[in-house]
Amino acid sequence: MDIKEIVSLAKIFLLDLDGTVYLEGELIGDMKNTLRRIRESGREIVYLTNNSSKTKEDYAARLENIGILEGEDKIYTSGDATAAYLKKHFPGRRVYVMGTEKLKESFAAAGVALSETDPEVTVLAYDTESTYEKLCKTALFLRRGTAYIATHPDVNCPAKACDVPDAGSFIRLFEASVGRVPEVIVGKPFRYMAEGVSELTGRAGRELLMAGDRLYTDIRFGAENGFSSLLVLSGETTAEMYEKSETRADAVLASLNDVVKYL
Ligand SMILES: [Mg+2]
Repeated sequence: MDIKEIVSLAKIFLLDLDGTVYLEGELIGDMKNTLRRIRESGREIVYLTNNSSKTKEDYAARLENIGILEGEDKIYTSGDATAAYLKKHFPGRRVYVMGTEKLKESFAAAGVALSETDPEVTVLAYDTESTYEKLCKTALFLRRGTAYIATHPDVNCPAKACDVPDAGSFIRLFEASVGRVPEVIVGKPFRYMAEGVSELTGRAGRELLMAGDRLYTDIRFGAENGFSSLLVLSGETTAEMYEKSETRADAVLASLNDVVKYL
């Protein structure tokens, strides 16, 4: 497969955000035009992020604000995929969420029963409102033997001043403290997020093209779920890093903007 083939087969562009569409809050190159060209080619855009500290509504406001959310565009987060997973695999169960208030509200709105005292399931998300009290509760519930689910595996979240510890770092914290790792991680690269995306779009296989800057989430997500994968070198991964990696993308571009040549 090369870039021409994967683009010609693609009906939906699954786009990572940070490092792919924007970097440190600034759109990368002429991204508005690139996204417009993708839409004009008859393809749809789904913005796909592992960041579970924010909700779809937060992202909609942000993307609208920077002018890159149009009519048919969709947004799907690892939080959305986790709510869908819980409803399917733990229907009616009480769930403790180590996550932001907004994430909890979105779970409640999706019909997930939340509990702060006697959960049957513990969900670890990217909790930018984390406190020691929440760490203690999470450790307690994990020791009690609740089911253990993490929204996504990313170790760091890119930020202006310095990268900050993301859910993956907290997975390691609880592994050290409690001796448990999640039974299920939902977000990219794992199949639960892929199932959610297929349900959302009604598409599968190479009709879906995942474009992203991170090898261990975005590119593995494409490769391991039968989607096409496009690595962009505009974010985390450098050409040298890619050369040394065992993870292989179907195609590599300097930035997503270069895809317009192949539409
Ligand atoms: Mg990224």
